[in-house]
Amino acid sequence: MIYLDPHKWYEFPADVACCPICGAPVLVGDFDEWETETGAVTDCGFHIDCKNEPDEDSEEYEDWFKSHWSMPYVDWLPLQYRLYKWFTARYRLRLPTQHAPDARESAPLGAVSEPIILSTSQASSTPT
Ligand SMILES: [Zn+2]
Repeated sequence: MIYLDPHKWYEFPADVACCPICGAPVLVGDFDEWETETGAVTDCGFHIDCKNEPDEDSEEYEDWFKSHWSMPYVDWLPLQYRLYKWFTARYRLRLPTQHAPDARESAPLGAVSEPIILSTSQASSTPT
């Protein structure tokens, strides 16, 4: 099992998932909920999103949103379910003993830093 910092961004490798709309890499969104004892993310606390999501204030955002989220139950739910199982089979969250300030809250998805690409191999080094 690999432990991840919940305050960083993670991206699925291209051979595991890509955006069903535009083919861009898929990011793990916010971790909303996890089991405090084990660090296992719950199915309600796991979200995914397209790496191409523009800034919410930008002109492209509306078009992007319409194309990507017109049918989320068709486009995203099955993928999210599959990726949740893939993710929880490999990863847990490494929980800080003190709540660290979350740099992501005010920033658009993926803008804080380049996301870390999750590994398909359990034997590879722990992402840091
Ligand atoms: Zn996309």
